[in-house]
Amino acid sequence: MTYICPICGFDGLDEPAYNEFHDPSFEICLCCQFQFGDDDDVELENGLFMKREETHAMYRQAWIAKGTPIFKPEYYPQQFQFNDSLKKKHMIEQLKNIRIYQTNIKG
Ligand SMILES: [Zn+2]
Repeated sequence: MTYICPICGFDGLDEPAYNEFHDPSFEICLCCQFQFGDDDDVELENGLFMKREETHAMYRQAWIAKGTPIFKPEYYPQQFQFNDSLKKKHMIEQLKNIRIYQTNIKG
């Protein structure tokens, strides 16, 4: 059984990113390198934290802007990667797992 990463859509997490009590798994996604319970813990100012969904969207945008590098390419299906990054076509497919539809991606 695998679980889908809510940031990049990769269907390869060992545990759900968040359990039924919304507690994070602290697993690091081997595709986008997001760590649940750490990268979603963003303090804007004293005691004011960014919403979890907002941290996901922000991280996703930054990851796409960097060219969707794969954190652990040795564990990621070879046919979907090029130069340790996701192939664009596959990245678009993978994001559909989390209902993100990229319409303005070049290449
Ligand atoms: Zn991910």
